[in-house]
Amino acid sequence: MSNIVAIVGRPNVGKSTLFNRLTESRQAIVKEISGVTRDRLYGRGEWNGIEFSVIDTGGYVHGSDDIFEGEIRKQVEIAIQEATVIIFVVDVMTGIVDLDETVVKILRKTKKPIFIVANKVDNTERVGLSSEFYSFGIGDVYDISATNGSGTGDLLDDLVKHFDINDKTVNEKDDLPRFAIVGKPNVGKSSLVNALTGEERNIVTDISGTTRDSIDTRYKAFGFDFMLVDTAGIRKKAKVTEDIEYYSVLRSVRSIEDSDVCIFMIDATEGLQKQDLHIYYIIEKNSKGVVVLVNKWDLVEKDHTTMKQYEEKIREQLAPFNDVPILFTSTITKQRIHKTLETAMEVYENRTRKISTSELNEVMLDIIQATPPPAVKGKYIRIKYVQQLPTHSPAFAFFCNLPQYVGDSYKRFLENRLRERYNFTGIPLKIFFRKK
Ligand code: GDP
Ligand code: GDP
Repeated sequence: MSNIVAIVGRPNVGKSTLFNRLTESRQAIVKEISGVTRDRLYGRGEWNGIEFSVIDTGGYVHGSDDIFEGEIRKQVEIAIQEATVIIFVVDVMTGIVDLDETVVKILRKTKKPIFIVANKVDNTERVGLSSEFYSFGIGDVYDISATNGSGTGDLLDDLVKHFDINDKTVNEKDDLPRFAIVGKPNVGKSSLVNALTGEERNIVTDISGTTRDSIDTRYKAFGFDFMLVDTAGIRKKAKVTEDIEYYSVLRSVRSIEDSDVCIFMIDATEGLQKQDLHIYYIIEKNSKGVVVLVNKWDLVEKDHTTMKQYEEKIREQLAPFNDVPILFTSTITKQRIHKTLETAMEVYENRTRKISTSELNEVMLDIIQATPPPAVKGKYIRIKYVQQLPTHSPAFAFFCNLPQYVGDSYKRFLENRLRERYNFTGIPLKIFFRKK
């Protein structure tokens, strides 16, 4: 089950301000790590230890005032399909307007939980203005001020009740690895699914999701036994115009959340583009394993250096998280389709890797002693102890006297040493500094 909240509403009600507030702490971190200018579409939030994805459906509407009603309609419809819960933002300063009614009409069709958020309740005088929104009859009304934060705690308290407490639903020891095939439209996702599952005898069972209209397929072949997440959703072409980035990214989020390892496909004839990178960051932010497929390799004219050059270029573009397998595939000639599965399986193993505390300290404390963190403001930072945390995806805590002074470059240094010593290829690592 995924933890996805979609923010819907007409322009200028405060969706993006709320999006920033729900994702603020994490965005700062992500920005630091990747050096990427973030956009408003996707972020991660956390409340009382429960993590979730936040999608701002307004994120791709620019020049907001002359927005088409049809555009809003499409956005709300897709939000309903993909989200676990929906936040419908309205504005207490304007009260109900026609476009709000347009949104409500669509929201009435869903049984998913809807939170009506009456925004711009900046002061106590404005409390009570929001009661008119109960007339929609689709959910409870929460007074908030996205700019000053008031009311957002109460909203989040109720919101997270609909989410999984664990960061993963699956992943117990005897569970099968869950692979998701993701990428923008036309890279070859459904062709790959067909190549993998084409032989019907290989399909063991189709397990229908009860809360969503997708089908995960258990697959057994070449000695591999695994689940493909949301294969039906990939094969069934979307009705909406898929060339709009918004839709393809949004469609990826749920599959990514539900997976252990993402098979991330790009088109060899186009190279890695901005839209591909958006999807890649969502994989990274969700701490999922990844295998990069440069597909349609059969269409590329090549000599003996082409692949190496191509790979180098992609690694540069993926940096800093570029310790990932990159395979050059063709679903037409079936080149490296078997290798794809084998590699996804290896990445899955890497994700489950646990290093004992004693070994970790033996290895890392020597490295730290040889190259300690630089002193800050005349203060020495002493790292005393390292531990892998009991999380599903590898995370390490370095206990030290002044965690707030450890800089990003030292963090990257430690990550690189861990990657040199242990095979974490395809796995985003989390590194924390804690007070000891
Ligand atoms: P969106 O188009 O729905 O994403 O709306 P924005 O988040 O861009 O906000 C539209 C305008 O409303 C901006 O000028 C915001 O500063 C303002 N705004 C957003 N939230 C609040 C709020 O809680 N109180 C007040 N007074 N203004 C707000
Ligand atoms: P999706 O939108 O990502 O599911 O992409 P499809 O699987 O529908 O593929 C889009 C188009 O690319 C189709 O015309 C496929 O036949 C073609 N295609 C997919 N994989 C390959 C490949 O490896 N080589 C070539 N030449 N064409 C491919």
